[in-house]
Amino acid sequence: MEKLFLKYDGYTECLLCPHFCRLAVGRKGICGVRKNNGEEIELTTYGVVSGFSVDPVEKKPLYHFFPGMHILSMGSYGCNMRCDFCQNWSISQGVPDRMPVRISPERIAADAASAKHNIGLAFTYNEPIVWFEFMRDIAVMIKKEGMYTVMVSNGFVNSMPLTEIIGFIDAFNIDLKAFNSTFYKKLTGADPEPVKNTLKQISKAGRHLEITTLVIPGRNDSDEEMLDESRWIAGELGDETPLHLSRYYPTYRRNDPATPQSTLERLFDIASLNLKNVYLGNVASAKGQDTACSGCGTVVTKRSGYNIMHKGLDDNGRCLICGKRVYENFSFSSRRGH
Ligand code: SF4
Repeated sequence: MEKLFLKYDGYTECLLCPHFCRLAVGRKGICGVRKNNGEEIELTTYGVVSGFSVDPVEKKPLYHFFPGMHILSMGSYGCNMRCDFCQNWSISQGVPDRMPVRISPERIAADAASAKHNIGLAFTYNEPIVWFEFMRDIAVMIKKEGMYTVMVSNGFVNSMPLTEIIGFIDAFNIDLKAFNSTFYKKLTGADPEPVKNTLKQISKAGRHLEITTLVIPGRNDSDEEMLDESRWIAGELGDETPLHLSRYYPTYRRNDPATPQSTLERLFDIASLNLKNVYLGNVASAKGQDTACSGCGTVVTKRSGYNIMHKGLDDNGRCLICGKRVYENFSFSSRRGH
C-alpha cells in the first residue's frame, strides 16, 4: 500500500480524499476521525462500530447484485461531506466522546460467516472511505472466508486509495447526489468532479456499480438536470448501469417538504430515455420497482418492498426468453417470496 499522507514542515497532508487536509500535530481532518499524531495520519476510530444489521442486499440499494440475498452491514463514525440532509447524521457528523469497545476484523468476519443466507459484508451507514484501514482489514478477512464485499459511499476519494479499494470491494453503490456543482458546494461541502472520476474508475475496473441520487425538490429535480445526468451515466458508464432515484424526507438541518411521488415518476421517465435500469426508492410507486430483461423487455424480477420474485431466469441469471445475462451475480437460492 502506498502512503496515505505526506509530511511537511509543521503539518502533514492527508491524501485519502480530495479535501487534502493539512493537519498540524494533534489536529483532526474534516472527517473528524483522522488525526495527525506526530508520526502519521492515524485513524482514531479503528475497530469502532456504530451499528450492525443483516439487511436485504436491496436495502443498500443494490438490485443487480445477488438480488434476494442478505448481507451483514456495518458502519462506524465520521464523514468527509457535510450534507445538511444526511439521514445518518448522528453517526456521520459526530464521534462519541467515549469510544465503544473496539471490535477486531477477525471477529467481524466470523460473524459474517455464521450469519444465515449472508453473502458477505457491506460497509455502509456512515462514509467508509474515512475508515479506510479498518474497512480494508475486514475486507481481507471476508475475502478469506470466500464471501463478497460491498461499499456504499459518497465516492469522494482520491484515485490512488480507490485503486486499492477496488482490489477488495466486489460491488459499489455510489451516491451521485446531483448533477450540478452548486448543489455539491452548498449542500455537501464537496465537489462533484472527483465523484464522477470515482464512478468512471470503478466502471473501467469492471466492478459492479449502481448509483443513487436522492431527489430534493428545487435542488436537483429539474428535467434538464436528470436528462444530463442520465446521458452522462449512459455515455461514461454504460446504459445498463442501475440508477436509484430515492425520495427525500426532511431530516437533520433541512426542512424542505418531502419529494412528491409525481416528481420521482417524472424523473424516472426522463432517466429511462437514456438508461435501462432506473429504480425508485423510499416511495410506494408501481413504477421503478421491477427488473426487465434489457434484451427483450420481459420482467424477470418483481419486487414488493423487500419481497423478491424471480421469473423466467436460468440458474446463471440469464433470461429464458432471449438468453441475455440479466444478472452477473446471481444465485437461485436467493429467491424469496415466490
Ligand atoms: S479523509 Fe479526512 S483527513 Fe483525510 S483529506 Fe479527507 S477529510 Fe481530510
